Amino acid sequence: MVLESVRQPLVYKTIPIPHPSPEQVLIKVIACGVCRTDLHVVDGELENPKLPLIPGHEIVGEVVQSGDEVTHLKEGDIIGVPWLGYACGRCPYCTRGQENLCENAGFTGYTIDGGYAEYTVAHHQFCFPLATQYANASGAPLLCAGLIGYRSYGMISENANKIGIYGFGAAAHILIQVAIYQKKKIYAFTREGDIAAQDFARSLGATWAGDSLQPSPEKLDAAIIFAPVGSLIPKALQDTDKGGVVICGGIHMSDIPSFPYRILWEERSVRSIANLTRKDGETFLNLAPKIPIQTETQLFSLQDANKALEFLRKGKIQGAAVLMMS
Ligand SMILES: [Zn+2]
Ligand SMILES: [Zn+2]
Repeated sequence: MVLESVRQPLVYKTIPIPHPSPEQVLIKVIACGVCRTDLHVVDGELENPKLPLIPGHEIVGEVVQSGDEVTHLKEGDIIGVPWLGYACGRCPYCTRGQENLCENAGFTGYTIDGGYAEYTVAHHQFCFPLATQYANASGAPLLCAGLIGYRSYGMISENANKIGIYGFGAAAHILIQVAIYQKKKIYAFTREGDIAAQDFARSLGATWAGDSLQPSPEKLDAAIIFAPVGSLIPKALQDTDKGGVVICGGIHMSDIPSFPYRILWEERSVRSIANLTRKDGETFLNLAPKIPIQTETQLFSLQDANKALEFLRKGKIQGAAVLMMS
C-alpha cells in the first residue's frame, strides 16, 4: 500500500521485492500495526515524508534473506521492526545516549519504507527478536504503541502511584497492563461519551474511567497524554498534584491553549517524548512476555489499509488496528 502524495488514499499496487543491502535483512511481513503516526504522515502533518512511501512501523515478520554484514540475525528468525529504523551513532545525540534524537535518524514508514507490504527490508541493528507468542498480529502493537507508552511511563517517578492516561487507544491498553503489574492505580480519560473505551479501561483494571473533560476524582501523581489534543495539557495539569509531571506521548498535537501559570506552579512539569532508543525496545520487549501483555487487535487485510486508517481517525478501533498480510 503506497502513499504517492499526502492527503491522498494509499494505492494498492504490485512492486518488486526489495533487495537487502549488506547491513539489511529482507523480511516477509506477517503483520503490521496501524498507528496514529501513520495518519499524521498520510495527512501531511509530518513534514517531508519519503515519497512514494510504504507506511507502517509496527512490523512483525520473518527474516528470509540476510545481507553480507548481518551477524546476529538469520533466516527464519521472527523479528519486530520499530519506528527508529536507523541512527548514526556519531552525532552529539547518539554519543550521549539519546539516539532517539539522532540528527541523521531514519524512521520506518516515514523516511524509509515500512511494513504495509508483503516484504520489506530493515537495518539488522534496528530489529528486535520477538518472543514466539508475539509472532502474529498480537505482537505488532508492541512495536510502537507499546514502546512509546513504555518510554512515556519511564519518564514518571517510580514513586508515582496515581497515574492518569488521556486517550485510551492502542498505547494506553498496553501501558495499563504494565502499570497494573507494578501495582499502580490508573485513571483513564477518554473522548466524551466513549463508554466502550471506558468499559474497556475498567476491564483492564483501571481504578476509574470517564470523560476527559471531567475533573479527576483524585489528584494525580503523573499524567500521560496519548490523544493528539493540545487542550488536554492544561486539563491534565489541573488534575495533577504538586510536583507531578504531564508527559505527552504523541508526535503531533493540536495547538495548546494558553493557561494560567498557577496550574503549572508548585513544580509541576510538562515534557514530550520523541521516538525510542533500542534500549527502550530491549527492556520493554523482555518485560512484555513476563506480564504477559495481551493486546486487543482489530484485523484488516493489507488492501483495507485505508479503511483501517479511517476507523482509527474516527475513534472506532478498540485496542489496536493491525494489517495481516495473508
Ligand atoms: Zn546520530
Ligand atoms: Zn507509531
